[in-house]
Amino acid sequence: MTVTPAHLHDLASRAEALTTEALTLGGGPPEGDYLAVVQQAVESLARGAEALRRAAADLAELQAQPCGMPWTVCPEHGNTLSSSAGISTCRVCRRTWHYDRLGRPCREPVTWKVIDRAGTETRMCDGHVLGARAAVEGATFLRLDEGGAGVRL
Ligand SMILES: [Zn+2]
Ligand SMILES: [Zn+2]
Repeated sequence: MTVTPAHLHDLASRAEALTTEALTLGGGPPEGDYLAVVQQAVESLARGAEALRRAAADLAELQAQPCGMPWTVCPEHGNTLSSSAGISTCRVCRRTWHYDRLGRPCREPVTWKVIDRAGTETRMCDGHVLGARAAVEGATFLRLDEGGAGVRL
């Protein structure tokens, strides 16, 4: 069975439902560690659901139509990543990826078409456009809509 982001979101939803259900449990024996045990279980479920959501987001990125730039950036902040021990972190938002993003081609979805003054067209993602805006003077930036047509901003 191939795991898809939808799968992981589904699992996360079920874990969240279990968390909610466990929170409504009451009326146990008055003595003992009953409540502490339930509390711990609820926390584990909540953490599990959160981890599944993150895994779904990472997987969706890996499967998307890739931007293809030779290194990867933060999708919201651009060239703000630092990597160590196979983990990449954005210096601005502290978002973390459990693989080395700097060392691999960008796989963010393509959302922009950039045409430089020489007429060379490059397609790239949100994060890479941030860097390109600063680096490429006089270029035209076109936001791609659903159908792939460029919209001038
Ligand atoms: Zn960031
Ligand atoms: Zn990119």
